[in-house]
Amino acid sequence: YNSTSVAVEEPITPPVSVKHTQLLINGQFVDAASGKTFPTLDPRTGEVIAHVAEGDVEDVNRAVSAARKAFDEGPWPRMTAYERSKIILRFADLLEQHTDEIAALETWDNGKPYEQAAKTEIPMTVRLFRYYAGWADKIHGLTVPADGPYHVQTLHEPIGVAGQIIPWNFPMLMFSWKVGPALACGNTVVIKTAEQTPLSAVYAAKLFHEAGLPDGVLNVVSGFGPTAGAALASHMEVDKLAFTGSTDTGKIVLELASKSNLKPVTLELGGKSAFIVCEDADVDQAVELSHSAVFFNQGQCCCAGSRTFVHEHVYNEFVEKARARAMNRSVGDPFKVGIEQGPQVDSDQFEKILRCIRSGVESGAILETGGDRFGSNGYYIQPTVFSNVQDDMSIAREEIFGPVQSILKFKDLDEVIKRANNSRYGLAAGIFTHNLDTANTLSRALKVGTVWINCYDVFDAAVPFGGYKMSGNGREKGIYSLNNYLQVKAVVTALKNPSW
Ligand code: ADP
Repeated sequence: YNSTSVAVEEPITPPVSVKHTQLLINGQFVDAASGKTFPTLDPRTGEVIAHVAEGDVEDVNRAVSAARKAFDEGPWPRMTAYERSKIILRFADLLEQHTDEIAALETWDNGKPYEQAAKTEIPMTVRLFRYYAGWADKIHGLTVPADGPYHVQTLHEPIGVAGQIIPWNFPMLMFSWKVGPALACGNTVVIKTAEQTPLSAVYAAKLFHEAGLPDGVLNVVSGFGPTAGAALASHMEVDKLAFTGSTDTGKIVLELASKSNLKPVTLELGGKSAFIVCEDADVDQAVELSHSAVFFNQGQCCCAGSRTFVHEHVYNEFVEKARARAMNRSVGDPFKVGIEQGPQVDSDQFEKILRCIRSGVESGAILETGGDRFGSNGYYIQPTVFSNVQDDMSIAREEIFGPVQSILKFKDLDEVIKRANNSRYGLAAGIFTHNLDTANTLSRALKVGTVWINCYDVFDAAVPFGGYKMSGNGREKGIYSLNNYLQVKAVVTALKNPSW
């Protein structure tokens, strides 16, 4: 494997130790009711970092009771919105002050480069909480004209107890997208962390209590999906469910929610996003951004630009440059400065990605670079590029969630619109062109929740994110996420003297 990548040698010691491994219920750290724990592993080596409490049905019941009491008896939903806003802002300050420790926990548990966690993910998490702290005291209803002698108003009320299930690819950012709007609207929360990455969210939740969050408002349960996650999704006392993860698991939690109490569900699921490079695009910029669109976070992004469509006139140049860029990617210990790519999160993902790569080779795609594990220890994978990818190959259809770029050739706009939309997913798309009409045509025609034009992966607390088709339903971030956590009550009052 010809690359300038850094070799994986002895792991660098993480600049942090693990403080919290228990469940956080009603403001207290507690063991699982069963006493059970599960190991969370260092993806650089597969070694155990810590043993973490394994929450199950009984723990979810305890956490939901605490959240129920905190909602029904207060003080959280009954505090002034200004007081809630101040607590969220104080938490954002604490989070910012502890960026280094939290980023180190993210890297240790997930494998992502420490520099990215510290400079991107944690600052975005802080920003998200500040954004929603700003909304807390700006949520209000309407006065509505009606056909009759009535005074009509709407009250926008919190829904109640929000159950939230998050994945392992951006543990802190996913925590913020879920918890930020829910708490700003006055709900209480039970959040289940991903079993691969339980360490950072519980650390952050402790800081939230130090910022003045009342007990029971935010409860964190670590544990597995089919046990703790399913218990939350099917709980009769949970009023709303928000889930981020795979499309297959999204179907399961939606079914559990409807079989129990019909709680409303928002889903943020998988993707197979098209990154479209038109013939007039700046090829060097498109190569660089298509590279990061696929390889960022070890390829473990729901909106990864994992189908790179390139116009036939620039195809050869593009493939050559994309290959060179991938060969140049620095892979190695994510705690090292300058590393772009760490290990995949766990052995399941590692094996699955290697299977996808083998299927790409077997189906006749051209392997330009990569194609195997990187080094001999841990879950590292070589940055891999396939060209000559055809629409019906499984590497062009299935979400790989790894560092694998699939490049497809196209001839004209109508064709690429049809091919890009020919997917069960519809999360995001990138468009590279300087032609306004091409950009407008594509951005209107693509059936996706986010279109990035001459940029990719631009995330902002104020900008909504979510999927068309089987990439999910509902939108997170921005003003749109507030709707997920509010009920609308119409209050109709008869007027005694209608002429006034
Ligand atoms: P992945 O396969 O990438 O780990 P999942 O969708 O399985 O993605 O996981 C996302 C989250 O969903 C995790 O917190 C996981 O524990 C949870 N989960 C997995 N299976 C279930 C289930 N049957 N019910 C509820 N939650 C689940």
